[in-house]
Amino acid sequence: MNCIFCKILNKEIPNYTVYEDENVLAFLDIFPCAKGHTVVIPKKHFENLWNMSVEDFQAVSTGLRAAAGRVQARLKPDGMNIGINNGEVAGQAVPHVHWHIIPRYTGDGGGNMHSIIKNPGDQTPVALSELFK
Ligand code: AMP
Ligand code: ZN
Repeated sequence: MNCIFCKILNKEIPNYTVYEDENVLAFLDIFPCAKGHTVVIPKKHFENLWNMSVEDFQAVSTGLRAAAGRVQARLKPDGMNIGINNGEVAGQAVPHVHWHIIPRYTGDGGGNMHSIIKNPGDQTPVALSELFK
């Protein structure tokens, strides 16, 4: 398969492994946006979150927690952002679902989740809540 992350899993492309178990591989991002920026991928190829079963998601969640714990233990950041760019419009460049672990350090100049987008649309949360009833 012509997927860069599957090639990493197949050892056709090297990686700097942070954590590995039967379900996930976590490795240092080659273009880090922070010290210790780590990518966690499932060992099965799923394009995005919606292609994963609940069981697959749970297995990855366990691995993600362990990988983040390893980053925390080794680098001792002051905080972390953890998330997925799920879909091209959300910034997903590699179509093999992956979680970013972005360690955060006091005074690093970074933002929070609200800095991803500031375009709330024209419906209030109260109006939108109708869709969830
Ligand atoms: P995304 O934009 O969410 O698809 O993120 C893909 C991430 O994979 C980016 O942060 C890239 O820097 C990272 N990346 C791409 N190729 C490699 C590679 N060979 N080894 C490690 N990280 C990679
Ligand atoms: Zn893949």
